[in-house]
Amino acid sequence: MKKLIQGIHSFQTNYLSTHREMFELLSQGQHPRILFITCSDSRIDPNLITQAEPGEMFIIRNAGNIIPPYGATNGGECAAVEYAIHALGIKQVIVCGHSHCGAMKGLLKLDKLEEEMPAVYEWLKHAEATRRMIKENYQDYEGEKLLQATVEENILTQLENLRTYPVIHSRLHSGQIQLHGWVYYIESGEILEYDPVRRQFVAPETRLPRAAWLTPEQQQRIYQGSGASAKGNGKG
Ligand SMILES: [Zn+2]
Repeated sequence: MKKLIQGIHSFQTNYLSTHREMFELLSQGQHPRILFITCSDSRIDPNLITQAEPGEMFIIRNAGNIIPPYGATNGGECAAVEYAIHALGIKQVIVCGHSHCGAMKGLLKLDKLEEEMPAVYEWLKHAEATRRMIKENYQDYEGEKLLQATVEENILTQLENLRTYPVIHSRLHSGQIQLHGWVYYIESGEILEYDPVRRQFVAPETRLPRAAWLTPEQQQRIYQGSGASAKGNGKG
């Protein structure tokens, strides 16, 4: 705690004093351009890894960067998504998973969680599509490779869950919103983005452009079919 108190003092005397104008502006309202959904893991700092300033990203964090399907719970995630899209008018949504994710490790041994961490067990049910996808399609994977595949498939699962939100469904239809899947590698600082054309995670600048005349939903159908999969990723 002592370190945090010192940090507060340092923030107020150093950073705040040299960024007065920015904070003055922020006090008048927020206009973030990005909804950033990521894991609670302490090793991820969304603003640090993207070099975004305060006010630029609306952030949802929880164990496993999970967004329950619309109507599945009455939790904070649902309200935050709705607020971000409808009230703040955000048009870019990023689901960012990460290497060595403890929640995904838990998902791979779900049975053991039920007794020790019943709340986590219940929460991870919103990633059941990930668990089943891995169980039935990645039998030949193990260890780190299996975990990484789970992290990547879960990003795609949660993008699917986002599409169940009426506010997102409607804006995807009219091309007013874009969904992105990112994976962050703690060990290298590298970030890869899911490329639905190649069906794998690639460096964001090398992602193939999508046909601009298609709506995101049409692109989804054409490029991903009904079964989006990260399998075949060279990184896996
Ligand atoms: Zn995690």
